[in-house]
This record gives sequence, C-alpha cells and structure tokens, in this order.
Amino acid sequence: MAIERTLSIIKPDAVAKNVIGKIYDRFESAGLKIIASRMAHLSQVEAEQFYGVHKDRPFFKDLVSFMISGPVMIQVLQGEGAIAKNRDLMGATDPKKADKGTIRADFADSIDANAVHGSDAPETAAVEVAFFFPGINVFNR
Ligand code: ADP
Ligand code: MG
Repeated sequence: MAIERTLSIIKPDAVAKNVIGKIYDRFESAGLKIIASRMAHLSQVEAEQFYGVHKDRPFFKDLVSFMISGPVMIQVLQGEGAIAKNRDLMGATDPKKADKGTIRADFADSIDANAVHGSDAPETAAVEVAFFFPGINVFNR
C-alpha cells in the first residue's frame, strides 16, 4: 500500500469538547503522521466552497452553519493507505451507526455534529489538501 496524504478536520463540536489531543492520539497510534496543521474559524464562503459537492443536498445549509459555529482544527495526515485508514478511524457518518472505538462513536453526538471530516478518495484528498494548504502537494513530493 502506498504512502498517501489526506485532509482531516476536527469539527467545531469536538474542538468545543476539548478532545483535539485525544483525536490526535488516535491518528498517531494508528501510524499516521500529522505533517501540517492549523486552527481556523471558517468563513461562510470557505465552508460553502469546501463542501461544494454537497450544495444541492437538503442538509447543506445546516452543515455550513455548523462548520462555521466555532473553530476547527485542520490537518494533513500522511501514512500507508492514509485515506482509508483515516476513514476507518473516523467511523460511519452517523455516529449511531459507527463501530465501537471509532472517533465518531466515541466523540460525536449526531449526524450533523459528527466530530471529524476526512477525505474519501485520492482525488478529493488532493483538492481538499490544496484548499487549506496550498503549499502541500498530494501526488508529487
Ligand atoms: P462523511 O463526512 O462521512 O464523508 P458525507 O460526505 O456524506 O459524510 O457528508 C458530509 C457531512 O455532511 C457529514 O459529515 C455530516 O456532517 C453531514 N451530513 C451528511 N449526511 C447528512 C444527513 N443525512 N443529515 C445531516 N447531515 C448530514
Ligand atoms: Mg464526505
């Protein structure tokens, strides 16, 4: 399996719960390296652009409001199969359906406030990493 890079966001609910460190420990214990990070309070335009693929979904407005409701912690994770590994650590989108021991099962309250974002494929990882970290390339390094 190749070394990959993926974008991760600790969403406002998890930042407010003071569990950034606990979530970082999940990444590091799974062998993922945090190669870039920054905290940000997203603007409405940034959140709308970032989640642009969902703009026609019924939950889009609520998703954007939630993502700008407080600061988020944004990071690039690197490691063997980082994209799928991060998705495994996160668990299912709906925390009620997430496997025991996953980040969402342990720290998320609802499908709206579900603690973390993670890129879902190499193409989205490339776009999402570039969105927040223009200096970091996913494919050529
Ligand atoms: P994931 O974050 O697991 O990749 P999606 O890409 O499908 O999930 O959706 C993006 C985000 O939109 C989810 O993390 C969640 O916060 C929100 N969302 C998705 N589906 C719903 C839904 N049915 N109701 C409310 N919010 C949703
Ligand atoms: Mg997604």
